[in-house]
Amino acid sequence: MIKPGVPAPNLAPLMGSDNLRERGGVTYREIKARSLLNRCDSPRMPFTWTVNPYRGCAMGCKYCYAAYTHEFLGLDVPEQFHSLVYVKTGAEEETTRRLGAIVRRGELIALGTATDPYQPAETEARVTRRFLETVARHHDARLGIVTKGAIILRDLDVLETIHRRSRLWVRVSLISPHADLVRRLDPWAPPPAVRIDVMRRLHEAGIDAGLGLAPILPALTDDEPSIDRLLGEVAAAGVKKMFMNVLFLRSPTKEKYLRWLAAEHPRYLEAYERAYAGRVYLHGRYPDRLKEMVRRLKRKHGFLEEEADDRSPAAVPEQLGLWP
Ligand code: SF4
Repeated sequence: MIKPGVPAPNLAPLMGSDNLRERGGVTYREIKARSLLNRCDSPRMPFTWTVNPYRGCAMGCKYCYAAYTHEFLGLDVPEQFHSLVYVKTGAEEETTRRLGAIVRRGELIALGTATDPYQPAETEARVTRRFLETVARHHDARLGIVTKGAIILRDLDVLETIHRRSRLWVRVSLISPHADLVRRLDPWAPPPAVRIDVMRRLHEAGIDAGLGLAPILPALTDDEPSIDRLLGEVAAAGVKKMFMNVLFLRSPTKEKYLRWLAAEHPRYLEAYERAYAGRVYLHGRYPDRLKEMVRRLKRKHGFLEEEADDRSPAAVPEQLGLWP
């Protein structure tokens, strides 16, 4: 049971109060962690372990599904998820110790389920980098990464090593080819052209790179010409893997997203309120039509059907927020 405004008792003593870095309206603080590896026992998830090197995310996405995880820290204003980011420290020894057994058991690890592992602070903090270096010492690990961050290219060397020795998926999230719209939706994430170039460079390095078309936002990013263009640009970069999901909305993201919608696109507010009244996911003809449209566009642009194994940690991001 979370008490509003009060950190969970197991987390309160671990939260630092000194600012490690303040830049671009984002404050970074330390939070001690025993291990970066958190077990996920849900049978609905294709992975067994999640790794989130940060708590909070500076990308600032208006639809961010993970905002609620800050409530465990006593931070219940959803915007704080983007302005106060905690950097996990002290977890290396236990993470290294656990990883061997996880790899031996062939269990999937998902990196970046409740934050983006390539925060701006990662350039200095290198928490994600050190985790990848630990994975790279193993053979036959199974690791999926979801990110919007171009800083991932810094780690190309270690990703190539993991790719050679293990099974690695990387999916780069991008929901529209339109830079203006993306800047309003994901204000601190790289623009579409940069993210497509990230996919290209990962692919050229031989890594299983793909597009994360998630979440598709009703009325804003769901039109066929836009998705057609996006898939065309990604395919032109040589990338032929992708997954998609339609927006799911739960508190506190729902209130935050609807506030933004009311300010930016008020004409859609009522339809959203009706569609998401009493539900988190949309069901029925609308998502079915979208899935069919994306299937058709994937065929048009030569995308591959994801194999069972490709339902990597990246493939079900709409539910990932269940794991802080
Ligand atoms: S990149 Fe992901 S975790 Fe970060 S704000 Fe956007 S949706 Fe949330």
